[in-house]
Amino acid sequence: MRKIEVGKTIQLIANLGLIALVSSCGGSSSSGSSQNVVVVASDRAVSDLADDQSGYQIHVLYVVASDGMDRALDTDGTIALSVESWNAWLSTQTGGIDLRLDTANGALDITFVRLNRSDAQMNAYGGQLRDQLETELATKGFDVSNKLYLVYYDGGGAQTPSCGGGAYPPSLPGTVAALYLNGMPSGSAPCSTNPFATAVDSPGYIEFVGIHEVMHVLGFVPSCSPNETAAGHVLDDNIDVMYAGPLAWNPTVLDVNRDDYYEANAPNCIDFADSAFLSPLPATPQPPPGWPYEMLSTISCADEALLQSTAGDRTRIQFINGTDAPVNVYWLDFSGTRQFRRTLGPYEGFLARTFTTHPWVITDETNQCLGIFMGSANMGRAIARSN
Ligand SMILES: [Zn+2]
Repeated sequence: MRKIEVGKTIQLIANLGLIALVSSCGGSSSSGSSQNVVVVASDRAVSDLADDQSGYQIHVLYVVASDGMDRALDTDGTIALSVESWNAWLSTQTGGIDLRLDTANGALDITFVRLNRSDAQMNAYGGQLRDQLETELATKGFDVSNKLYLVYYDGGGAQTPSCGGGAYPPSLPGTVAALYLNGMPSGSAPCSTNPFATAVDSPGYIEFVGIHEVMHVLGFVPSCSPNETAAGHVLDDNIDVMYAGPLAWNPTVLDVNRDDYYEANAPNCIDFADSAFLSPLPATPQPPPGWPYEMLSTISCADEALLQSTAGDRTRIQFINGTDAPVNVYWLDFSGTRQFRRTLGPYEGFLARTFTTHPWVITDETNQCLGIFMGSANMGRAIARSN
């Protein structure tokens, strides 16, 4: 118990540092002196603070829906201890190597985000909840090219079929790993019944889901691994942190037998030991497959009549509605004619397969052009903004 107290105290001090930073930027309601501030839920970071280090790193977010309950998990030390716990476990598996975390002034930089969409809206996306967290967060500026975002989402419900989700490049590109704290997986306990870690050296289910989803976003387990199954998992042992299969998951080990994704040296296969997200950095650090993603800039709407699709290379574009009204997404075909593809509600996004030489138009509800985008070699992001 004493250990818990110490951990919490450290985090409270760290949060005092954050308060000072936020207030020095203006706009905070906290008073000038930070020394005597009692930490309350409203004192928190709502933007990504100045980074202690450059390079690839994991930025942690505490996210609630527009109508979601705010349990202040970012400021009461809960999330900080959770992250510290799974990263400490990783270090025990690797002999001292862990993941690079985004810190500010030496403390874990956790950002609080309240979504524009309600929990019912997010829950209705079901297994696509992670994708929608990613696209809405991108509209709010959480789309920096060197960052993987780990979201503790304090929401989800009956339609949320798991306690977490991750991108899985190259087949599913993306930057967000998410925990659904109120997910309701069929056949197992509601996610809300899983306690957070209460000590650094005792990660629990939530912590293992957290690092499991982070591993997916980093590209693991790659399909070339000998025991890979079910899009990014291994089937050889249920104690593997990346196991998926018929047995109950009982994670304690990173890559059982070291034959699939860590120091496995499988031919023509990525290996976690080479990841650019590791600390210390390996000799030849490798970003996840397909990284970095590119923020696409818009081509002038005045040029639409001049544009048409031509032969090119395959790529993908993540279209995102950054406005608070519906938008329409059109592909400009080989004669330059708009072909309707999708209507996106506010802050919605979708991933389109396309070619580097194909132009796309995003319009408002009256089909007035808001922007035109063409893909890049890696996945590009196209965010529509109001005129
Ligand atoms: Zn998984």
